[in-house]
Amino acid sequence: MSPILGIDLGTTNSLVGVVDSGFPILLADVDGNRLTPSVVHNAVDGTVTIGVKALRQRVLDPQRTVFSVKRLIGRRASEGEWQPPYDLATIGKTPVDVSADILRHLKCIAERALETEVTRAVITVPAYFNDAQRNATKRAGELAGLTVERILSEPTAAALAYGLNKLEDQKKIAVYDLGGGTFDISILEMSDGVFQVLATAGDTQLGGDDIDRAFADWILERSGDTPVLNSNASSASLRTGVSALLSEAAETAKKKLSTLDEVTIEIPFLNSQKHLSIRATRTDLEKLALPLIERTRRHCLRALTDANLKPTQLDEVILVGGSTRMPLVRRIVGEIFGKEPNTSQNPDEAVAMGAVIQAGILSGALRNVVLLDVTPLSLGIETFGGLMNIIIPRNTTIPCKAGEMFTNAVTNQREMLIRVLQGERELAKDNWELGRIAVPFLPGPKGSARVGVQFSLDANGILQVLARDTATNTDMVLEIQSSAVDVDDAKVEQMISESVDYAFDDMNERIWTEARLKGEELINAVEEALTQCGSLLNEDELLKIKSCAAQVREVMNHAPHDARKLKSANQSLDDATQSLAVLLVERAMEAALERKLN
Ligand code: ADP
Ligand code: MG
Repeated sequence: MSPILGIDLGTTNSLVGVVDSGFPILLADVDGNRLTPSVVHNAVDGTVTIGVKALRQRVLDPQRTVFSVKRLIGRRASEGEWQPPYDLATIGKTPVDVSADILRHLKCIAERALETEVTRAVITVPAYFNDAQRNATKRAGELAGLTVERILSEPTAAALAYGLNKLEDQKKIAVYDLGGGTFDISILEMSDGVFQVLATAGDTQLGGDDIDRAFADWILERSGDTPVLNSNASSASLRTGVSALLSEAAETAKKKLSTLDEVTIEIPFLNSQKHLSIRATRTDLEKLALPLIERTRRHCLRALTDANLKPTQLDEVILVGGSTRMPLVRRIVGEIFGKEPNTSQNPDEAVAMGAVIQAGILSGALRNVVLLDVTPLSLGIETFGGLMNIIIPRNTTIPCKAGEMFTNAVTNQREMLIRVLQGERELAKDNWELGRIAVPFLPGPKGSARVGVQFSLDANGILQVLARDTATNTDMVLEIQSSAVDVDDAKVEQMISESVDYAFDDMNERIWTEARLKGEELINAVEEALTQCGSLLNEDELLKIKSCAAQVREVMNHAPHDARKLKSANQSLDDATQSLAVLLVERAMEAALERKLN
């Protein structure tokens, strides 16, 4: 089983993880960081550095330090072009190349942590990415040496991380994602265990960076020393560098203010004379951030309108993106949607976690752990002769649906008893009965009834058995609570090991039962034919048939069961009745002809 990586290729930060020993985990680089800044520095000599090291270059060599490249891949047509301070053409790379650099770096982090080569990945993209943008992301993955098993929407990934796939059907959720440079709001609906994006809105030019910039300006003003970017910083390059330094200090202070009420901001040698040291409170920051965060409100309302929903119809509002760690953001989101947002997950890791979970499901690594996601044992019904007829095999990912058509085994039968079974054994009696329903139908000849049986297992492991008499379209429904999936591990193991231990006996018993059913059917048919036209056979033929039938009966009642012997006895009887069959057909034709002549 080769591992599949889950990757959040973010505008600001990227993360990589994998399911390890059944648990989704995010992987850290050599320095212990799980967040890798999505920044790539391309030195003139061709050296490429990625992540924190590249971020440092943003101050020293801004023109060759590429950041927010996702914006170039993911431009929304309607929005103005974003002009980066670097020029990809002089660097000689495309946005896809730069994304590939980041992905290659993440692949290395994973390979170092896992001590094995990894070649497959699930990568997330914003919900609004179109086909071209998704394909570009996929191409970047391939350039980095990764087979992209799936491109997953970020809000869907977040919902997976929050465990919202375990909710009942028809749940509606809002995913509010405020990252470094972009804001996305998505409204999702889960139906049949699959998330559907009902509406998306947002602003590709709004995020934590804007807060940093506003805060940096405020710090500058506060320094009282306005021309910090004075004559010393004459070159454009140096100016960008200094402002990058300021933004960095502002960002660090901003993050601290998510948990602290007050911080001291220190910047060494901002201007040549002195260190800068300024105190800032959370209230100071919130005053600056408020108008920016308020801008998300109309997008949220817009998405709700597009999805044709009122805020009260949402079951959950979840927060994604590092900027939603700000208490102010949480307050405003609560106000917009009229409900406390769910903050049970790490907002800046949720998307990556979801990608990892999806990857784990695809690779099979999550099967045995997330019991609720697969059927631990087969589900089926008892059919003629006490055999187990599997409808949903074990290890099927839920939710799922499957069905089969059944008929009556006996003429003039008035109802069919459906016993719902769980287990791996061939005979019904060795499996566990979960419930039963009787389906009434109109009496008729054997094989005339048509009863459809459908099993549907929802995401919560609730099994619904629907039986429909197709002649009258009457439905019978049986609902079996979670027992279909929620089975004690030890019992599952015992059932499976027994099914292996008894595989040979069970199979023999199944073949025997099938042969016995066939034998009974033959004997009934022969007896019926003999009463109709036995007198037309000669003595030898009659004797032969009778002795063959007796042989079948004898083998049938003989213990221990010998399936092979019964099958050959059936065959002999079948052969011996050849002339009887011919006679029957002739007789039927004569009768028909007579009717016509009369
Ligand atoms: P993206 O999805 O754009 O890659 P992230 O989800 O990683 O972005 O969010 C990055 C943004 O989150 C940055 O602007 C960063 O400053 C901000 N951020 C991270 N942690 C905090 C925090 N504790 N408080 C406030 N903002 C934070
Ligand atoms: Mg993100």
